[in-house]
Amino acid sequence: MQDDRRKVVIIGGGLVGSLCACFMGQKGYDVFMYEKRPDPRKTAHTRGRSINLAISHRGRAALRSVGLEEIILESAIPMKGRLLHSKTGELQSVLYDPIFNNCIYSVGRNFLNEVLLNAAESYNNVTVKFNHNLVDVDFRREVIQLRNNDTMEVFEETADLIIGADGAHSALRFAMLSTPMFQFSQTYIDHGYLELRIPPELGDKMTPNHLHIWPRGQFMMIALPNKDTSWTVTLFMPFKNFNSLGSEAKIIHFFDNTFPDAIPLIGKEDLVQTFLNTKPSQLISVKCSPYHCGSKFLIIGDAAHAMVPFYGQGMNSGFEDCTILNELLERNNVKIEEIIRQYSKIRVPNAQAICDLAMYNYVEMRDLVNRKSFRVRKTVDEVIFRLCPKTWIPLYNSVSFSNLDYSRCLRNKQSQDKVYNLLVGLFLLGLAYVLFNALN
Ligand code: FAD
Repeated sequence: MQDDRRKVVIIGGGLVGSLCACFMGQKGYDVFMYEKRPDPRKTAHTRGRSINLAISHRGRAALRSVGLEEIILESAIPMKGRLLHSKTGELQSVLYDPIFNNCIYSVGRNFLNEVLLNAAESYNNVTVKFNHNLVDVDFRREVIQLRNNDTMEVFEETADLIIGADGAHSALRFAMLSTPMFQFSQTYIDHGYLELRIPPELGDKMTPNHLHIWPRGQFMMIALPNKDTSWTVTLFMPFKNFNSLGSEAKIIHFFDNTFPDAIPLIGKEDLVQTFLNTKPSQLISVKCSPYHCGSKFLIIGDAAHAMVPFYGQGMNSGFEDCTILNELLERNNVKIEEIIRQYSKIRVPNAQAICDLAMYNYVEMRDLVNRKSFRVRKTVDEVIFRLCPKTWIPLYNSVSFSNLDYSRCLRNKQSQDKVYNLLVGLFLLGLAYVLFNALN
């Protein structure tokens, strides 16, 4: 079969699926994308996962490849650093990249999904079908079964490449569990999250262009800006703490003691109503290997590597999946079977590295940022980065502002830690020597 006549089926029209449809559409493939939910452009938005997301280098690069970076960034809000809120209301700005001034951007999830769906449908060779569920997979016959939820008709579909972009609870990944040598693990952390809101009329009381953090050791609250000047506030906390806040008095008491400066911004009534009427959501991390199955099945995005949201890389890494798949598909005369095998080889170690880094970053955001030792380390990192910008790239910069393999970012951090610990050791030894000489 000629490359330009390839047929591709994508399961899931979320952020990653619809971007993937754009990449495949651009290649001239015949693309069919099946999404189980109704068209989000025609239905009232339901509150689900985060209302806004942070987009950084890897996500931007993927959007640029399909000509969408500009339109997305026009509606996004730059965040140049973290703004830390102490318990007593002091603020401290910590820039992400004081040397090259890189920033991350807050963008609305619904807006992003709508732009991507419009872009995918603008290709004549892309067909998007909503209300269609993947219900079964037959790996032996290499066909999938889909159900049209309007008519309840169940039908078979096949293609040269079948991509599961169906999210953290992927039906395609679930089917892959029964295939030989497929490795899988999932972890629900014992912290959940609840979204609150600072309304547009109070948004200007927040220092702009920052990701705000209220780090409190075992838990934290963050806020990201929206285009309408409101802020989406997310409280991450152990479920047991959420469960202990069952009354108005307890909620107010907790906020008074922990986030006093946030109460007038969110408003007591909204705060209490949201707490009493919303269940905190769970956070899952998924690791599996390989990402392909047989000669045509592949999973990407959260379906392959759902992660906790603390590095802001879930979507960014899913978008990078599309870039990598696209690059591999550029190789002429290579069979799909070989391409997806290569894809797994490249992507599994990198996606697993960012899943681990995302877990680590929760500790950094909620706790380490408050510690002097962490701030000293950050300053040292910045000084060395300034002197050797190509050899000493601090972890956050390499993850968020470069396309260095995630596993390489992790290895760099481990070697930097060793050098740093050696420097600290030498410094302490030198200090002891000076003191010893001074006292004798
Ligand atoms: P999804 O967005 O889950 O889309 C999957 C789609 O598949 C859905 O539309 C679903 O309806 C459809 N589907 C499911 N099953 C089927 C089926 N059987 N048949 C057909 N269709 C199906 N990432 C960042 O990069 N930056 C951030 O700042 C960030 N913040 C986050 C904050 C929170 C609180 C959370 C929870 C996540 C955050 N993420 C962030 C992660 C990001 O939301 C995900 O990585 C991203 O949405 C993954 O996109 P996806 O398309 O792979 O999956």
